[in-house]
Order: sequence, then C-alpha cells, then structure tokens
Amino acid sequence: MRSQVAASSRNQIATAIALENPSSSRAVDSRIALPEGVQPYRIDWVNTLTIATFHALALLALMPMFFNWTAVIVAIVAARLFGLIGINIGYHRLLTHRGFKCPKWLEHCFVVVAICCAEDTPARWVAVHRRHHEKADDQPDPHSPLAGFFWGHLGWLLVKNPDLSRLGIYGRYAKDILRDPFYVALERNSWQLKIMLIQINMFFFAGLAAELLHGGSWSDAVQFALSIVVWAVFVRIVFVWHQTWAVNSVTHMWGYRNYATDEDSRNNWLIGLLAHGEGWHNNHHADQRSARHGHRWWEFDTTYLTIRLFEKLGLASDIVTPRDLK
Ligand SMILES: [Zn+2]
Ligand SMILES: [Zn+2]
Repeated sequence: MRSQVAASSRNQIATAIALENPSSSRAVDSRIALPEGVQPYRIDWVNTLTIATFHALALLALMPMFFNWTAVIVAIVAARLFGLIGINIGYHRLLTHRGFKCPKWLEHCFVVVAICCAEDTPARWVAVHRRHHEKADDQPDPHSPLAGFFWGHLGWLLVKNPDLSRLGIYGRYAKDILRDPFYVALERNSWQLKIMLIQINMFFFAGLAAELLHGGSWSDAVQFALSIVVWAVFVRIVFVWHQTWAVNSVTHMWGYRNYATDEDSRNNWLIGLLAHGEGWHNNHHADQRSARHGHRWWEFDTTYLTIRLFEKLGLASDIVTPRDLK
C-alpha cells in the first residue's frame, strides 16, 4: 500500500508519513551535478593541507614505537566522547536543530569539545548543515553523494564553493549563533589552533605523568606521551572526521527508509552504531528538530540517551521528541 506524502514543500514531512513505503525516494541511480560555481581545480588549500596533514600524522600510529594498547583504548574512548559530546550533541542536536535546552556554560563546553574535533567553527558547521537540510540532494546541497560518493564524503571540503562563503551563508543560516560573543570570538581569533595546541599538550603531559608515576624512565615517558598524542589526538580526529563525513555520504546512499522524505536520506545500522545514533539519518531528515534520531526500539541512539542523562542531572530540559511517535 502506498501512502501519500502530504508535505507541501521540500523537506517538510506531514503527518501522513509513508511508513509502509520505506523505499520510496527518487530513483536510486539519479545523479546531480556539483553545486553551481564549484570548479574542481579551485582547491581550498587550507582544508586540503589540514586534512592531508592530520591523515599523515594519524599514520604514525602504524609505527611500532607509537603503538601500545593503552593508547589504543584511550583513543577509542576519546573518539566516542569527543564525537558524541562535541559534534553530535553540541554542534548538531543543540546548536543546529535546538533539540533541547541547557545552561549556556554547558553549551560553550560542548562547543569547545567540538572544536577539539577540528570540524570548523560552530557558526560555519551549523550554517553548512542547515544549508544541507534545506537543499538536501538537490542544488545546491553542499555535500550530496548523488554528485559522487567521494564528493559527498570528502571532496566537497577540498575545493572552494562560492555558495558556502562565510558572508553568504552566515547571514541566512547562522545569525542566531553569532548573537553569542563567544562564538563570534571563535570566528575572529585563532582559537581553533590554540585549542588544538592545548589538547595536544594536555594529552602529552597526562601521558608523561602517567608513565613517570608508573615508574618509567623519562625516555619511556616521552615515548608513551607521544603515543598517546598520536592515537588520542590525530587518530581520534581522523576517525571522528570520517564518522561525520560518513553521515553525509553513506547515509544518503545505503540503508533503509522509515519515512518517504523528498531526498535520499537513509537509516544505516553501521553508521547508526559507529556514530552514536547519527546514522538514523532518514529519521533525522523526517523530523529534524527531534533530539532523538532512533525512532524504532532497536535504533540505538547513544547520543539521545546521553542527552537524557544530562536531563537527569538537571543540565538539560525541553528535549524535543519525534512528532509522530507516541
Ligand atoms: Zn542529510
Ligand atoms: Zn541535521
């Protein structure tokens, strides 16, 4: 049975969501062009060199001198914490979609954690993501994989896109963010670099102290501290990048659909688990403000559960839940 999708405009899903029609979407082989004005040879050198450098630094993890299981475990825990708290809760569900409320100091803490993930400033991240929601899988979606998987995953970051100029998108998509002087300061000063250096130092000296307290020599301590930096900063950042990028690419190509939204968003169980609930992306496109992306009982959403934990601690309120689920 085919239900009617009564949405009156793109990306607005009315109550008659076609739950029985999960595969309903545009033809899967449909392709779109790159956003207008994008020229593959107009490289964004800052982004390209940053991404290349961090991948190269992450590869140091393969050197035996930087490998130890403690560093691996610290990196896994850090990837989960930084990705979940900073990107999922801070940038995405709180700043972009206002899926819940929390004290301003806590919001700023979430954002500092997000900056540690090196995914640009809050105003920029929010503006690009809101642009994506408004034009998803259509022109000029900044990163639709219908223009090519590599483009949707990473390519869109490597070239200049006139549509995403800060002046152009901030006025339309990030005015609310830039009312906060803290976020304006993050735009103006080199805080991204400073926060990067601070986190590198924190992980280094924590590793150094841990090894010295454990009775290690200074040379052992320095080697252990460097291994912690390689794994818990560089490998972790690259891992969280690909986690975020996979939400843009994989979950607009592969997976199932609970809702007949008018783009190609999908629920992908692998990304759902890896990215702490962000992979239930079709649910998210259907109901963008909801802080809960897992709509069915088995769509495990650890980001949402963490927001509920903050609520239990008295630090979150007014949590927006899915409209069509009782
Ligand atoms: Zn999307
Ligand atoms: Zn979103």
